[in-house]
Amino acid sequence: MDKSFEKIFSLNLNRIKTGLNHEQFELNGDFFSHFENTPVQDCGLKADLEIHRTDSHIDVKFHIHGYVVVSCDRCADDMKLPLDTQERVIYSFSEKMKDAGDTEVLYVDEKATELTLVQELYDFVCIALPFRKVHEDIGENCDPEIMKYIISDSGDDDNEKEIDPRWESLKNINKKDQ
Ligand SMILES: [Zn+2]
Repeated sequence: MDKSFEKIFSLNLNRIKTGLNHEQFELNGDFFSHFENTPVQDCGLKADLEIHRTDSHIDVKFHIHGYVVVSCDRCADDMKLPLDTQERVIYSFSEKMKDAGDTEVLYVDEKATELTLVQELYDFVCIALPFRKVHEDIGENCDPEIMKYIISDSGDDDNEKEIDPRWESLKNINKKDQ
């Protein structure tokens, strides 16, 4: 991963003081373009971080909110979904701290000056996406041009996923015709 990109989404540990700190990151479509095979086409997200630092660790609560643009599982057209998720990670300065209940614990070198959160931000958005992403679920209609090619809707999500690339190519053919 590109270092300058990682730096944008890093905490400057020299600036994180003992006690409570706040940071905010903004994620747009460019953020996701750094990842291959990402389900997120575009987004407008804010990540509000509540950071509590002690001598032994940094406890980070992530609140990521805004919207994401993903492909509909049925018609492959873009759809905009609201997203609001909260996660927590403890960055421990000691390798001995392994367990904190349900909270993930990651080791960070006490002498480190930067802590990149790129992977965490990416993972937390992806985890928050619904398993089934269909226009109908957000009260919208699928692209009627694409739906003309879909003869029957079995309602079987697994089958829909398997033939999804064909819909994508039909969509491209359609675009060329216009
Ligand atoms: Zn659709």
